[in-house]
Amino acid sequence: MAKPKVAFYWNASCGGCEEAVVDLAADILKVVKAVDIVLWPVAMDFKRADVEALKDGEIAVTFLNGGVRTSEQESWAKLLRRKSGLVVAFGSCAHLGGVPGLANLNDRKSIFEAVYGYLPSVDNAAGTVPQHKTRVPEGELEIPEFYNTVYALDQVIDVDYYLPGCAPPPDLIMEAITAILSGKLPPKGSVLAPPKSLCDTCPRNETKPDKLEIAKLKLPHEAMPAPEKCFLAEGVICVGPATRSGCGERCINANMPCRGCFGPTDDVRDQGAKFLSALASIIATDDPAEMEKVAESIPDTTGLFYMYSLPASLLTRKKSVK
Ligand code: SF4
Ligand code: SF4
Repeated sequence: MAKPKVAFYWNASCGGCEEAVVDLAADILKVVKAVDIVLWPVAMDFKRADVEALKDGEIAVTFLNGGVRTSEQESWAKLLRRKSGLVVAFGSCAHLGGVPGLANLNDRKSIFEAVYGYLPSVDNAAGTVPQHKTRVPEGELEIPEFYNTVYALDQVIDVDYYLPGCAPPPDLIMEAITAILSGKLPPKGSVLAPPKSLCDTCPRNETKPDKLEIAKLKLPHEAMPAPEKCFLAEGVICVGPATRSGCGERCINANMPCRGCFGPTDDVRDQGAKFLSALASIIATDDPAEMEKVAESIPDTTGLFYMYSLPASLLTRKKSVK
């Protein structure tokens, strides 16, 4: 019997999700035995034409990581959607926009001004910036268009499932692959990770008081919390209350607070707003001036609360300056 065809592809991401597949270690041999990989540019030499030659729906499942920032990425996402029975948004960037989605705090113009203009390592006196189309004597050259906005994958194509995490851990990847191969899948649109919040599974939860109150927020290096202490109880921002569990508490176990890469739980629409609301309820003052002081002590509020989820949030992006 023919093995199911599987594709792995990457859009606007760092490559860590590709590493996560390699991190399956010996289990990757089981995957290779069970499926026929038809696209995996980071590891094998397939061309776009190979994918275009497949029948629509012929790929059983595509694991697509990365958000969508360019016209080329959008075109790959749409091609793979057409050729695939199932599309899994693989990792934080495909799921919610991820860290590259923080670029939505700027627009294309200001990004180009920095990257090709005033950054200290740039030598570009002519002020040349990439153009989508350029006329040369031989004709017109075209490079992918750089969009003004980074999109989560489901803002561009229909997505069947979400595998969260920066990057998704190997056990969840294997569980997802096993569920897909056995056809034992949850309803379409599910996030393939437990529904509880990280605080529910965190080993430090026992040290979190029932009534949590903090007077001052600290960065991890300012607090140096003891390994068993709840970060929030120590005044260190930890996004665990607004984050889905399933990562194995990777950061917590390394004595670092959670930054929210698993995204929100099913009942939360906006992870950053949820965390803001949780934080506001534990600040130990009702005095607006004191509250303001606490708020001012948070470095880069948007970057911290929406580190992985800005494009998929209610905010989506900062409004462009006209
Ligand atoms: S706030 Fe952070 S450290 Fe405290 S219980 Fe939740 S996840 Fe654990
Ligand atoms: S602790 Fe938070 S940021 Fe770290 S891997 Fe888990 S969900 Fe992601």
